[in-house]
Amino acid sequence: MQTDTAMQTLPRYSGIPTFMRVPFAQRLEDFDIALAGVPFDGGVTARPGARYGPREIRNMSSMTRAIHHVTGFNPFEACRVADVGDVPFTDVFHLERSHEDIRRFFEPLFAAGKTVLAAGGDHSITFPVFQAMKPRRPLGMVHIDAHTDTWDDFLGSKFSHGSPFRRAVEAGLLDPKRTIQIGIRGAQNSDQGWRYSLDSGMRVVFIEEFEAKGVEAIVQEARRIVGDGPTYLSLDVDGLDPVFAPGTGTPEIGGMTTRETLGLLRGLDGLDFVGGDVVEVSPPYDPSGSTALLGATLMYEILCLLARSVAARR
Ligand code: MN
Ligand code: MN
Repeated sequence: MQTDTAMQTLPRYSGIPTFMRVPFAQRLEDFDIALAGVPFDGGVTARPGARYGPREIRNMSSMTRAIHHVTGFNPFEACRVADVGDVPFTDVFHLERSHEDIRRFFEPLFAAGKTVLAAGGDHSITFPVFQAMKPRRPLGMVHIDAHTDTWDDFLGSKFSHGSPFRRAVEAGLLDPKRTIQIGIRGAQNSDQGWRYSLDSGMRVVFIEEFEAKGVEAIVQEARRIVGDGPTYLSLDVDGLDPVFAPGTGTPEIGGMTTRETLGLLRGLDGLDFVGGDVVEVSPPYDPSGSTALLGATLMYEILCLLARSVAARR
């Protein structure tokens, strides 16, 4: 199916701004891949604002076009892609209740065999997304981030944006031996997050190794680690350098460039991706909108990976 022709023929600055100007859909039978907003930042440990991420990413994603300029692939032809709206939060002042809202929103989508690409929100949202997936075997993951997000409890909660992947391993949802974390950097007050990642068997690629070996070597390493099993792609925009992604809550200098990130994502084509997310776009720190544009464009790149996987599974 093509994108809705009415939306494509409207000028980019008009109409109701869905992700990438795809149709808004509420019936499961109308799409294969769901683009969903998760406007929640109750899990941030410092600077909030990612709750505005989906709205600004939708806005900037009106620039998205269909045909990938390198591969010639058109994800909107390969799959029916729809915007399914935002997770409706019922209790925004409670982190764990909000995570239940996220889980409940995504469960019927995954139960119906849909593939989901979510826009955060802070990184705490990925754990309830994993819970909603109920994978038959623990997932593999390519995780791009400055931080391992495998810390334990922080300021009284075990579910902040610093801990989703520790919780996911404990819950049997994520296979640490099929997990690669790329772009890790920045001083910490405790080494327990790095320790947990390494001790549980995750492959941790600090930015110094990434720089020394180059994109192509890290692509091959990622493909080797996740193998041919079901894999999730989680992209925290703070994995990129704040020069490219200033609008985020926990910036760390010395990160990946946009070109490196594009090269890395394109190198993952053909893996069995079952879902993904782009998180931590924080519009209050993004006055030019460049980080939201980055988020929207990386969502398009990830959509291409997902659409290839969906088509391959048919
Ligand atoms: Mn993160
Ligand atoms: Mn991060």
